[in-house]
Order: sequence, then C-alpha cells, then structure tokens
Amino acid sequence: MMARIFSGIQPSGDLHIGNYLGAVKNWVQLQHQFETFICIVDYHAITAPYEPADLVRRTHDMAVGLLAAGVDPEKATLFVQSQVPEHTELAWIFNTITPLGELERQVAFKEKSARQEQVMAGTLNYPVLQAADILLYLADLVPVGEDQVQHLELSRVVSRNWNSRFSPAKPFFPEPQPRLTPTRRIMGLDGQAKMSKSLGNTIGLLEEPDAIWEKLRPAPTDPARQRKTDAGEPDKCPIIYQLHKAFSPEETVREVEENCRGAKWGCVDCKKSLLPNMLAELTPIREKARELQADRAQVSAALDLGATKARTVARETIKQVKDMMGLAREGLIANAMSAR
Ligand code: ADP
Repeated sequence: MMARIFSGIQPSGDLHIGNYLGAVKNWVQLQHQFETFICIVDYHAITAPYEPADLVRRTHDMAVGLLAAGVDPEKATLFVQSQVPEHTELAWIFNTITPLGELERQVAFKEKSARQEQVMAGTLNYPVLQAADILLYLADLVPVGEDQVQHLELSRVVSRNWNSRFSPAKPFFPEPQPRLTPTRRIMGLDGQAKMSKSLGNTIGLLEEPDAIWEKLRPAPTDPARQRKTDAGEPDKCPIIYQLHKAFSPEETVREVEENCRGAKWGCVDCKKSLLPNMLAELTPIREKARELQADRAQVSAALDLGATKARTVARETIKQVKDMMGLAREGLIANAMSAR
C-alpha cells in the first residue's frame, strides 16, 4: 500500500510565502508520491477567540490558497476538519487513554496558557485532537516543521497507549513519524524573526506585484553594506538572499553571490533581480486564486469531494476502533448478543 501522509493547517485566511515555501509547496510535491490528506483544521482554530463569520471566510480563503498553490483535489484529499465528525469522536476516545501529565508538559500548552487569564480545556487537549487527526487515517508520515515534533511525539504515545490496551497482539494504529520539511524557516520582512502572520512581517502569497515590491524595497540586508561600494556577505542578508535561493534559478543565485561579495550590485539591484523570479512563480498562483474566488461553487465542490473521501476512511477506522473497544455501533449489540 502507498504510504499515507497527513498534514493539517489552521484556517488563518491568507497564506504567506513562509507557509508556501515551508509547507504547502512541499505538500504539492508529496501528493504525487503518497496518499495525501490535507486538512483545514477549524476545530483547532476555535481554541483561540474568534468571530464565526470570520472563521467561515478564513476557511474558504485557505482552501482557495491551497488549491491555487497546486493542491489537486483529485490527487490529494483536501477537506475541512469539521465536515468529518469522526475527528472529534476519536479525540474523545483518545482523551480517555492520555495521561494529563503528558498534556501539561507540552511546550505549546505552557506558552499559550501563560498568555491567557482563563485556560480552556481545549487548549490542553489540542494535541489529543491532533493525534486523532493523524491516526484516523492511519497515517505513517506527517510533514512538519521543527516546532511540531513534540506534538507528534504525543501522537505516538497515544497510539502506543491505545494499542497496548485494545489491540496488544497486533498494533492497530501506526506510530506516525515526522518528515521534516526541507525548507528551513523563512525569515520575516523585519529580518528579526520567522515570517509569521501573528508578527505582521509577511509577504502574502496572493499579493499584487506592486505591493510585493513595496515590501522588498525597504527590507533589511547585510548591515555591512552601507554603500553600494561596500562588499557584502550573502549569508548575512537575512531575507533577500534566502528568497533568491527559493525563487531564482541557480545561475542567478551565483550571480547574486558574486555581485554582493564583489560590491558590483547594490542591494536594490539585487532586489530588482529577485522580483521577476518571485512573480514568475507567484503570478499563476494569484491568477488561479482570483478565478477560484469568483467561483465559490468550485471551491465548495472540491471540499465536499475531499470530505466524502476522508469520511470513507474515517468511518472504517472508527468502526474498527469501536468494535475493539466494545462500544456500540449500528448492529453491534445485536450481532454480539446473537453470537452468545
Ligand atoms: P503562522 O506562523 O504564520 O501562523 P502557521 O503556524 O499556521 O503559520 O504555519 C502553517 C505552516 O506553515 C506550518 O507547517 C509551518 O511549519 C509553516 N510555516 C509557517 N511560517 C513559516 C516560515 N516562516 N518558514 C517556513 N515555514 C513556515
């Protein structure tokens, strides 16, 4: 059987090029090699304060972004978490076999709860739902960044705990492994921290060329380059060199290195050489997104197809889980009783 991968993404609305280079572009490639499930995790999103009307829009926009970036709904199973109720069903089951201590020591929980006056149970149980997301599809691999490795460790604990209690002879759930994404973190436009929606230092995946240029132009470069005649070091350029490596052909990257070290190009020249290479990749995505924004029915149809495909797998997992746990499903009690 083809190995399965599961990826989740929060419906944060517009994708930025950090999400694209660090995650989405990778999924678009993986969908050709693996049986791929991509889930817009709205049940995770509601653990933070939100407006209902806003959430619907963000979920839709995330689907548009993913489809425009190349997720193929015929190849990958792209769906919205709340359309597949088995996620929360399995999460409840996993809550009953997950030690509280395992959840309390999660770094993400400690960070989030320190910022909140009142901590909701969902904040603590977030990784249990995450384990359910992955294990519902018996996924072997989860493409993640470094920051998600601890959560994935918890998914393996959940898998082991459940297996040892309910299917000790032959493990039912796999122990999903991280598949670290090849692109390191993309720096934000401030040059200080990773590009992140919450830090407001992003370039949107769907931004217009003028807007992208307005952001690139003032972006910080190697601080040693005060004047065009000062030699620079590409590795000390926090953003532009990294983007050249992500978007420009190899010969341009070499040209950048030479002209920066040899003080032949100013930083604006370097940025001017980057822009068309970024646009070559981003313009088709932006145009596809515009087409999808104007055709809501197409987006809904893609998500409905994904939910149907996801549910077929999810239902089968839940059916087997319930049987092994002695829980009632349609026909189970009658069948079990008549077997006596
Ligand atoms: P944000 O930090 O903007 O809220 P998320 O945490 O929702 O982004 O991340 C969604 C996906 O994009 C994750 O798989 C994450 O690893 C990836 N990602 C986010 N920011 C970056 C970045 N700056 N560089 C590389 N990958 C990123």
